[in-house]
Order: sequence, then structure tokens, then C-alpha cells
Amino acid sequence: MTRAASRHRLYYDLLDAFRQEGCPICRLGKLTVARYLDILAYENVNDPGVREKLRAARGFCNYHAYQFLEEVRDLLAAGIIYRDVVNAVVLALPAGDSPALTRQVLSIVRPGPEEPGEDHGLAGLVTPGAPCPACQALDQGVTDRLHGFLEHLPEADFRAAYQDSDGLCHPHFLEAVAQVREQPQLELLVRSEDALLAREAASASGARPGVGRDVAYYGRRSLLKVVISSFGDRGAIARANRPGRAFGRTTHAGPSPQGERAQPSADPDICPACARAQLPTALATETFAQDLSAGGERGTELLDLLCNRHAWQLAQAVPTGGLRPLFAAVAERRRSRLAALVPPLLAQENGHGGLELPGRLPRARRLGMELARQLEPRGTCPLCERQAAIELGELRRYLAESEKPGLGDGAAGEMATLCLPHLSLSCRLRLSSAGRAALVRRQVLGWSALIEELKEYIRKQDYRFRDEPRGHEQTSPYRAVAQMAGRKDLR
Ligand SMILES: [Zn+2]
Ligand SMILES: [Zn+2]
Ligand SMILES: [Zn+2]
Ligand SMILES: [Zn+2]
Repeated sequence: MTRAASRHRLYYDLLDAFRQEGCPICRLGKLTVARYLDILAYENVNDPGVREKLRAARGFCNYHAYQFLEEVRDLLAAGIIYRDVVNAVVLALPAGDSPALTRQVLSIVRPGPEEPGEDHGLAGLVTPGAPCPACQALDQGVTDRLHGFLEHLPEADFRAAYQDSDGLCHPHFLEAVAQVREQPQLELLVRSEDALLAREAASASGARPGVGRDVAYYGRRSLLKVVISSFGDRGAIARANRPGRAFGRTTHAGPSPQGERAQPSADPDICPACARAQLPTALATETFAQDLSAGGERGTELLDLLCNRHAWQLAQAVPTGGLRPLFAAVAERRRSRLAALVPPLLAQENGHGGLELPGRLPRARRLGMELARQLEPRGTCPLCERQAAIELGELRRYLAESEKPGLGDGAAGEMATLCLPHLSLSCRLRLSSAGRAALVRRQVLGWSALIEELKEYIRKQDYRFRDEPRGHEQTSPYRAVAQMAGRKDLR
């Protein structure tokens, strides 16, 4: 496509997205990812460059890994990609017979700093060394669309179409503000964000002011639409899909919400930390919703800090009625922050309040970046923090149990492998050297067996072997995804 043709296309894509529900940038960003994954499955599975990127990233992030499985539905492609990824991880781990393995692990494991300790060397081997390629495609798609959006925004027709749309979600508003090049763009953005927040605050709190479009707006708008405009569409905010900051920090494990309960029966196909953390994590989301309702101003502050994934989990787990006033309060809070920041910022930059002055590029850009910086949420997503504490606690309990004599290499511990995110998290726990060597040995054994199953699965897709009986290997692409990316919705 020529440059002019692609600009033309971008323009009409945006106009088209304005006519549909939700944030137009989220919509187009998700479309980019869907296309990227489709093309990957049908054309690029055997492309060496693509495979190299996927190996370095240790496969897709959790969200995109399951999107690839469930939406592209090409299990053979998933099998081929993940055979390669699991293989790369196994190669990165110390291998060999047991004594040699123990020696190798010992050589990278410096004996125990206090937990939660620092990287033991093992973390460097298993942590992805590159971002998820689908997240990168999303980032690029969003940047390109926002660029086109800002370029056309001063045009009257385009602007009218935008003003009639559901508007940019808050995260994409912040991104757009950070990218503005001319002052009129900044003014238009701020004005439309202010109107959107006002509408949201009124709609979610149940007030019914206004006529015309507003009435229809309240009628059709469900809570999930409020979630889209406050936190972005599910999976459309790439940063939120990367390992949360809470997982990169020192986190102390909280008590298990149920105390000493019976553990879920050990399924050797499921990461034991994923299995154990699932219920407590769901309970934590419910408790969090109760805390929000009881929390007043502090509750609004906490809700405001949620990442995209947890905002969606909360909205899907908790009855709508209770959440609407809370989302309204967040919109109100963001609106007052905007009102408090914008006039002083503009005044300070140009002595006579000059919104009407013609924009000069460097100043508009500086203003935009400063405004985006000041509006950014200050703090970590509170549900990421709670989840990190739960996972660390469950992981510690599991590893302590598997270190008990007779269990570590016995029936309970032999087959179960931790998923890659939890193996990575385990590097922050203090384990005996022998315990850590045993853990790595279990992982290498389990994943090597998984690679063999993936090979069998791929082989049986060939028409010459189609008539062979099908066995456990048929689920290996799913299991490989769960082993590399963790349980669905984990991150
Ligand atoms: Zn958006
Ligand atoms: Zn991703
Ligand atoms: Zn896991
Ligand atoms: Zn979160």
C-alpha cells in the first residue's frame, strides 16, 4: 500500500470505529492483534524470524496465548509454536543426569539470601527476554491509530464524527495527550474527556439529566461500557498484560483466606501453584469489592488504580448494581483532577491563559506530556498486589510440602510441573539447594515429556498417520500454553 493509500485507509477505519460502540482506538487495536494472530497461524508459523521472537518472549503473554488458542483455533500452529518455546526453555535450564544437574543448579544458585530473596540466577534463565509479539503488534497498532486520530482531529467533519462516538477510553486519552503536537489537539482532547467523564459520573450514579442523545446514552450503556471507557476494552491496553509491577517487587505473602484448608487434588497436568491460587484469588476479588463499597474516598482511590485486567475481572465477578456508583465516583475524581491540572498548566506555560494562541509544536508537546504524566495513576494496581501475595504464599506452601522427605520425588511431586511464571516466581523464595535442584529436575523432566507429546501431536496431524489412535498427546497444545503462560487470566 502506498503511503497516501494507507493514510486514506486509516482515516476511514477511524470514522468506521467512531460509529461503533466503545473506544475506537481499543477497537482498532484489538483488530490489529486479531489480524496479526491470524496471519501468524496461516502464513508465518515457519518463519524463522517470527519463531525466534516467540522463543525469546517465551511464547505469548497470558492474554494473547489464550486468544491464540481460543480465537484462531489452529491447534497445529499452537503445537508447532509451543514445541519450540518449551524446547527453548528446557535448553535454557541446566540439563543432564541428576548429579550433573545438581552441580549445575548449585553453580547458579548462590546459597540462600533471606526470602523473598533476589534473583538466584535461575530467574534470568526462565524470565522472558523479549516482550510478547502480539502486545508489540497491539502497541504499534495503537500508536499508528492515535497518530492518525490526532492528525485529523482539527478537521471539522472528522471532529464531529468523533464527538458523536463513545470517545477515547481513559488510558487511550492519556496516551493521546502524551502524543499531541499542536495545542488545538490538546484542547479538543481535554474538552471531550471532560464531557465524557461528566456523562459517566452522571450515568453510573443513576442521575438522569439531559435530553436527546443523553437519554439514549443512559439507556443502552451497561456497566461494561463504563469499564471500557474507564479502563479500556479487555486486552486492549498492552501494558496491563505484561507482568504487573507488583510481581517484580518484594511482596510478602498474606495469610491464606481459608486458613489450613484441604488442598485441591493434584492434577499432574496443571501447575500446582495455579491450581491452588485460583480460589483464593477469586475470593480476594470479592473481598476487594466489599472493601471498595465500605471504603468511601479511599475506595474510589483504590478502584482508580486498577489495571485493565483486574477492572474487567472485578466487573465480571461482582453484581452490576453495587459497582456503578463506584465507577461514577472514579469518573468524578478524574474529572476534578483534570479541572485542577489543566488551567494552571496552561497559564504557567503561557502568561495570558492563551488557549487561543496558535499552537507551537514544542510547547504543545511539552504540555501534553506533562499533563499525561500528572494524570497517570500513582501506584500499583491493588488487586495485582493482593494476587501476588496469594500466589507467593501458595507457591511457598506447595514447595515446602514437596520438599518433605518422600514427597519431593514421590507420587505427588513427580509429575507436577510449575508453569513458567510460577517457576520464575519461585526464584524469589528461599529453598534449600537440594530442593531447588529437585524442582528444576522435575521441570526439565515434565517439560521434556511435554515436548515428546507435542511432537506426537504434530506427527499425527499428517494425513499419513491420521488413522493412528489418538491419546493424551491430543491435549498437549493446550497444556503447553498453560505451562508457558500460566492458567487462563493469571496475568
Ligand atoms: Zn481505548
Ligand atoms: Zn501479549
Ligand atoms: Zn502456575
Ligand atoms: Zn491488576
